Amino acid sequence: MTVWSAVLASLMSGPFLRFAPSPNGYLHLGHGFSALFTWRAATHLGGTALLRIEDIDTVRCKPEYDAAIREDLAWLGLDWPQPVLRQSERFALYRAAAARLGDLLYACNCSRAEIAARATRTDPDGAPLYDGHCRHHPPPAGSQLQWRIKMDEAIARAGPLGIAELAVDGINIGETLETRLANPALWGDAVIVRKDTPTSYHLSVVVDDAAQGITHVTRGMDLHAATDLHALLQKLLRLPAPIYAHHGLVCDDADLKLSKSKRSVSLRSLREAGWLSQDIRGQLGF
Ligand code: GLU
Ligand code: ZN
Repeated sequence: MTVWSAVLASLMSGPFLRFAPSPNGYLHLGHGFSALFTWRAATHLGGTALLRIEDIDTVRCKPEYDAAIREDLAWLGLDWPQPVLRQSERFALYRAAAARLGDLLYACNCSRAEIAARATRTDPDGAPLYDGHCRHHPPPAGSQLQWRIKMDEAIARAGPLGIAELAVDGINIGETLETRLANPALWGDAVIVRKDTPTSYHLSVVVDDAAQGITHVTRGMDLHAATDLHALLQKLLRLPAPIYAHHGLVCDDADLKLSKSKRSVSLRSLREAGWLSQDIRGQLGF
């Protein structure tokens, strides 16, 4: 943190929340809901909502989408303090965090097809669960490697893990804090450092939630199960664990989760079609 951002931080008031989109496409209604939900929760808590650009995938993320995100959020009437944290500027920090996991990580060069062919179970996202092959058959050095966590050893080292959650009712976060036990074993030997980038979503998100002093993580239910893995990494890396509130997902006509890869309608295409920002708010129930 520079002196200037430290001064700015001291002027802002906690609690701190964040909206953390990936600039690999235009924001759609689902993102709009998540952003409006986050700013509403920040107001309710008397805190500040921060913007974080999650661009660790330097192939799929593009500067024009980053610019479009800021434009779309401003159009929705949302603002955020500067500077905006961009994950692509922080690879050295993620490398250092991975190094701190030390011998809990092991190299793996299996392809998706190999993993799928051997898998007998799936992870909470429905992806084939890794069978631990490379833990017993170390890949040759120099091949393209990903780094996986030895889940059983990591759980043994971390001990019992609680996750503090606030229930969500539509567009509102609840008041009662509940703690549930995390079960990261469901993710198996998850990838912590990818082949194509020196980190992973899971590693970067826990490093940055801590770096930004995030007290409340508000995001969609699609990331609820990932929280168990985040709780494990927070404990192993001795990072503070925020409170979590996962909101429902906006569904399109086919009742599918909206995503940029499906035929989801972008906020900017609605704007170009004449929608006003209050129409978006109304459509999403805000
Ligand atoms: N970057 C993630 C996404 O766009 C969100 C991560 C998070 O909120 O934890 O889905
Ligand atoms: Zn492998």
